[in-house]
Amino acid sequence: MEQNYSITNYPNASEIDKQLDALISKPIYSISEGALKAYESNYYAQKCVKSKEMIKMAQEIIPGGVQHNLAFNYPFPLVFTKAEGAYLYDIDGNKYYDFLQAGGPTILGSNPEEVRSKVIELLDDCGPSTGLFHEYEYKIAMKISESIKTVEMFRMLGSGTEACMASIRVARLATGKKNIIKMGGAYHGWSDQLAYGIRIPGSKWTQAHGVPRYIFKHTQEFFPNDLKDLERKLRWNLLKGGTAAVLIEPLGPESGTTPLDKDFNKGVEALCRKYGALLIFDEVVTGFRVGMSGAQGYFGVSPDLTIFGKVVAGGYPGAGGLGGKKEYMKFLSAGIAGGAKQKKALVGGTMAANPLSCVAGYHTLCEIERTGAIKRSGEMGDRLTKGLQALIEKYNLPFVAFNQGSICHLETVGTTHYSLNWKKPWTIPQVIKVTSERKKEMEHMGAAYMAEGIVTLAGSRLYTSAAYTEEMIDDVLVRFEKVFKNVTQKV
Ligand code: PMP
Repeated sequence: MEQNYSITNYPNASEIDKQLDALISKPIYSISEGALKAYESNYYAQKCVKSKEMIKMAQEIIPGGVQHNLAFNYPFPLVFTKAEGAYLYDIDGNKYYDFLQAGGPTILGSNPEEVRSKVIELLDDCGPSTGLFHEYEYKIAMKISESIKTVEMFRMLGSGTEACMASIRVARLATGKKNIIKMGGAYHGWSDQLAYGIRIPGSKWTQAHGVPRYIFKHTQEFFPNDLKDLERKLRWNLLKGGTAAVLIEPLGPESGTTPLDKDFNKGVEALCRKYGALLIFDEVVTGFRVGMSGAQGYFGVSPDLTIFGKVVAGGYPGAGGLGGKKEYMKFLSAGIAGGAKQKKALVGGTMAANPLSCVAGYHTLCEIERTGAIKRSGEMGDRLTKGLQALIEKYNLPFVAFNQGSICHLETVGTTHYSLNWKKPWTIPQVIKVTSERKKEMEHMGAAYMAEGIVTLAGSRLYTSAAYTEEMIDDVLVRFEKVFKNVTQKV
């Protein structure tokens, strides 16, 4: 199969590391107080009246007023009523460029007719679910297996979180070993055991409020881009129940926010083989965004298990799945395929693999392939990032912009570049304090972008889709310039 990847220039991880070091060594640069106040009074107070009213009412019944982390925007969340291609529209009728893309799945742009019409056809025929087998379950499993060599079998699940949970159960059953090692700062959903070392490398259990410490008895983290640290942990585990799996976001923690050396994944693969641990790739974001063969195709790595989400349901609900080699996937079907004595990993979900998710996912994948959406969205990501870099230079700002194809990062405060050092525990409260101050400024930047008609992911990440054109990206850059013009050093 011809491979068209979204990434044309893989970022130089050590160069970006240096730039991010420089960013966090400097004072915070952010939108000036005056400009932020002007956005609040001229835009949010006057042009977002209906959103404000709705959120005020919602706060009485919904904790925080919104349901989703990505919707908590400063000064208040906006209510969106329409999505089409590269655009979003709020309840007050304001139009925005969409770089959130529902958190990643809508690589074709929002609500494409080619997928919608198939979904409507299915709804007319059988509704969203019956609890029984539907032919689209087979079709999507075949499509994914044909696209990704290591996926000999595929099981659709309800979300990326569920697929991550299933993957570590399968790994433990398949290897008979106990420990799971993940990369510090990486996000593998919100299940108990994997809420370890999230957001900040080295943060261990500290960000997992509500989860008892003993849950993490067999979860460990290693520092991003540090194979020596990983090997140290693998070796240590030989004496402590072994390592069932190493779980990796292949572009780096938080969808490549901390980029990895290009050959890093191959290094992880070699260590997994050496120590008998399964290699699990979390391709929730990268699957069908980096390439039809995933990030694993791009890096030339063969994980034992692959976690899917987002694009596999094309922006429709129920986006999750686990794929992998037959010898491991059989632990999801023990009684049928593995013999009566083989133990079976517990997975479930009333709505898992419902026909609606499968039809949407299948036709989304077909459309991505037919239209070359992966490459196209990557070109748009390159254009956006180059433009942002030029603006950063023009205004002499310490910001860092880089991209892995259609995944673009705009770091204005560098919160994810911090880590916790337990050898110097007295430094930890300071890091937590500084990152929360910096995060506040990231939210202010996000508010400014939004008021200029640009929806970002938390003010620091932008996903591009194939619905963008060069002209649109150029217009977006004009809007970014309006914000960057008003950036000042904070005292
Ligand atoms: N893994 C990664 C790499 C993710 O980015 C996410 C979600 N952003 C998840 C797992 C969890 O997926 P879901 O939100 O579908 O549970």
